[in-house]
Amino acid sequence: MATVRLTKDQCQRDELPGLCARCGRPASTHIDRTFAWNPPWVGVFLLAGILPGVILLFATQRRLRVRLPMCERHLRHWRSPTTFTWIGLPVCLGIIVFGLFVLGEIHHGASPVANAGVFTFLAWIAVVGVWHSRLIRPERIDANGIVLTGVAEEFADAVEAMREESTPTRDYGEYDDEDRPARPRRNRYEGDD
Ligand SMILES: [Zn+2]
Repeated sequence: MATVRLTKDQCQRDELPGLCARCGRPASTHIDRTFAWNPPWVGVFLLAGILPGVILLFATQRRLRVRLPMCERHLRHWRSPTTFTWIGLPVCLGIIVFGLFVLGEIHHGASPVANAGVFTFLAWIAVVGVWHSRLIRPERIDANGIVLTGVAEEFADAVEAMREESTPTRDYGEYDDEDRPARPRRNRYEGDD
């Protein structure tokens, strides 16, 4: 998997290559997705207190809508983990409540079902955390655009090639200062699909 920078123009004018953002194979459709991002330091304030943390969370959040090309296989790239997340929570809580209050009442004590519910809940948290960390997600959103990680190497290469071909002398603001005169390079890390 790779990381790619998309300018606001590329996101809003549909100027992305016809390759699936996830696997790099030819894309057959698009997914409109609004990404949200907060500066990492906001997390410190969430630990310090829920109310100031939540206020800062809303005050500092940046959102950007991106029309990402996808293949048929990856049409449910975000939908499946989102469904699992929202169905899993009430299921786990339901098992715990059933074990504690229904079976606990019948057997006059703690039921093993309640313990099983707690273990299921912990497993659900772990699965959700790992699954969401492997999705295409924003690493940063700023005035210039968005940095997306978890995309295919082929997609990232095609995005940069298209940008260089279409606007070779364009001013990209702060990115230019960091990267010129060499070709802008994106971060890479090894990972599987
Ligand atoms: Zn794909």
